[in-house]
Amino acid sequence: MPRPARSTRRRLAWGTAAVLAAGVAVPTLAQATPGGGPASAGASAGATAAGSAAASPASGHKAKNVIVLIGDGMGDSEITLARDYTVGANGRLNMDGFPRTGAYTTYSVDEKGKPEYVTDSAASGTGWATGNKTVNGRISKTPGTDKPLPTMLELAKKKGLATGNITTADLTDATPAVQNAHVRDRGCQGPADMKKCPRDTLGQGGGGSIAEQTVTTGADVLMGGGKEHFDQTVTEGPHKGRTVTEQARKAGYRLVTDKSGLESATPGTPLLGLFARSDIPVEWTGKPAARGGTDPQRCTTSNPERPDTTPSLERQTSRAIELLEAQQKGKNGKAKVKGHGKKPGKGFFLQVEGASIDKQDHVADPCGQIGETVAFDRAVKVARDYARKHPDTLVVTSADHAHASQIVPTDAKPAGLASTLITDEGRPLQVSYSNNDPAAAQEHTGTQVRIAASGPGADRVQGVTDQTDLFHTVTGALR
Ligand SMILES: [Zn+2]
Repeated sequence: MPRPARSTRRRLAWGTAAVLAAGVAVPTLAQATPGGGPASAGASAGATAAGSAAASPASGHKAKNVIVLIGDGMGDSEITLARDYTVGANGRLNMDGFPRTGAYTTYSVDEKGKPEYVTDSAASGTGWATGNKTVNGRISKTPGTDKPLPTMLELAKKKGLATGNITTADLTDATPAVQNAHVRDRGCQGPADMKKCPRDTLGQGGGGSIAEQTVTTGADVLMGGGKEHFDQTVTEGPHKGRTVTEQARKAGYRLVTDKSGLESATPGTPLLGLFARSDIPVEWTGKPAARGGTDPQRCTTSNPERPDTTPSLERQTSRAIELLEAQQKGKNGKAKVKGHGKKPGKGFFLQVEGASIDKQDHVADPCGQIGETVAFDRAVKVARDYARKHPDTLVVTSADHAHASQIVPTDAKPAGLASTLITDEGRPLQVSYSNNDPAAAQEHTGTQVRIAASGPGADRVQGVTDQTDLFHTVTGALR
């Protein structure tokens, strides 16, 4: 299934944003508008329909704001598992209510551009962030030549939009990094982690570690975990001897580390929220899947290792939107926030990642995984509620790749790990994690994943597209 050649030089949205990638080929739009088929009937028809009152797409394809929400590892089986457990088999999650739905392919490539059928988060994120396929492990750089590719966040910023990037993982982890940074290997998260990225060091003319580049790229709102990488000391360049956190302060960022800090943040001052040393602790707990299955279990909807002071992804998302919106209303975000009739700002771009769906899938922990999917779904609701009142907002939700969990018959005997859950509607459900040696981490899979959207340009996600098409959907809507 070779896709059309990716060598066609194509007009890049927002005026050949060759800031970073002079000479880098940009993919064709290829299958981005598949046949203009009929609008999806809406996933929620006749059901309990969390989101069935979807805002009808604004006319035309121009968006003022774009919110991209990525459930890491959130394939159809992960969505279905969270749905079955919480709202029931015939219920609907918030993410099920988008008026436009399609599927996209997620494969990555090798150094020569040949398909690798199972992607990691770095290559897949590079796909939508830049419109280009790359090799597994690489962050927004080309596969063979290792050259930086401009990202949708960088392009939005260049265009004058307010920008935000938030996650439940390390802020330097692959999915947020694909918008903020360009490195050969996703492991190069802090100044002390640069072994695999010799050409990306400041001394060699690169941008430095992902943490350093996150600061220099300079999104207005940055939130996640991963404080340990920002607390490393910069070893070369103008900030040599400072920690990356100090570098961020010097660049004007206000650093917050908990809920109250997040609440006190003010528009006009760039915000760096680092809410955990590494990944933000998950919301739910339970027994991990085991060989031969588990006793039927109910999930615990709390986690003793998650401090009360940790903001939810839902609240991070609503605060990010408030701050970015206010930022666009006036220079300091104060004077022009109220009332209508103001000269409209340029809008904002925000990426939100629910990261630990993937991480809990890797460790075969169904309760952790469902809790993170539900937490992500609440963030989707925040975005959809905002878009209902601001129909000039394109909201897209998707995943970076599919994952291991499968819902199997209760009398099946999976060869790997399994657990039986009792759902909220009182029914037994067996989930299997059996796509790798049970003693090893469970793996991503290469199947296509759902993409759904509302607002200007949303119809472009219908049918079967590729992950790289999302770049053109977003940059095209903001053009
Ligand atoms: Zn993963």
